[in-house]
Amino acid sequence: MKNFKTVAALRAFRQEITSKGETLALVPTMGALHKGHLSLVELAKTKADHVVVSIFVNPTQFGPNEDFDSYPRMVEEDSLKLKPLNIAGVFAPSVSEMYPNGYASTVSVSGLTDCLCGAARPGHFDGVATVVSKLLLQSRADYAVFGEKDWQQLQVIRRVNADLNIDCDIIGAPIYRDEKSGLALSSRNAYLSTKELASAETLNVTLRSFAKDIRDGADIDIATADATQKIINAGFNNIDYLECRESESLKRVDQFDPKHPCRVFVAAKIGSARLIDNMAV
Ligand code: AMP
Repeated sequence: MKNFKTVAALRAFRQEITSKGETLALVPTMGALHKGHLSLVELAKTKADHVVVSIFVNPTQFGPNEDFDSYPRMVEEDSLKLKPLNIAGVFAPSVSEMYPNGYASTVSVSGLTDCLCGAARPGHFDGVATVVSKLLLQSRADYAVFGEKDWQQLQVIRRVNADLNIDCDIIGAPIYRDEKSGLALSSRNAYLSTKELASAETLNVTLRSFAKDIRDGADIDIATADATQKIINAGFNNIDYLECRESESLKRVDQFDPKHPCRVFVAAKIGSARLIDNMAV
């Protein structure tokens, strides 16, 4: 497994495999890898001849009061987890490699980013769209795999890829959940105490019953109030959003219509951790 630290090294590898007519899949991550990330790698391996995992805690997607400084960084442990998967390499650039002196360009997606995490975390998706555009252009990957756990992010990346003619095949991977509890795996789960973890595990259960109520024709406002109460009762200190939206356009849904696929989305804070989840209605 190669260890790429510079864009030049990654590019040289890309050139080498291109000359042999081979393909590359990229799996962008911020590290602190868990089984959810590894499931993306497994999916990537089914698509391309070579897989590269990028590990970069991207400063531009964190707000001033967010957890950029405390975000778990453990590239060596991450590499050990990746080794048995037989991938081509890890791309772990420094901040100065990704954002050289004088850096002044931003990729910004309108519309899709007005709601959900875009509304709750101003500037977040500018940071995501910028760093993912850079990673796709640096690697010239044929495929890139992103988790449906960050559903809005996946839609934003599809938009950027199409709008900027990046010409990468963007693949969505299903949410990897803890088998027993159904909790969506997340690097931020590491922030949870045992008590908070027990509360966090109720989030997907509440979201599932919220989706079912909507599917069964419940009034969405009433179903939202009911699910909100359950989340607060479970010990969450704040709910950024709990909403039902169209799956692709992310437009708000006022009345469930089986002809238009929609999903429920939640972001809620417990202790210092902000957890997100979503599922199809
Ligand atoms: P992150 O390191 O949190 O930025 O995540 C890197 C990639 O892994 C993103 O595409 C996430 O959507 C994806 N991901 C994180 N957690 C999960 C999960 N539990 N299931 C599926 N994909 C995930």
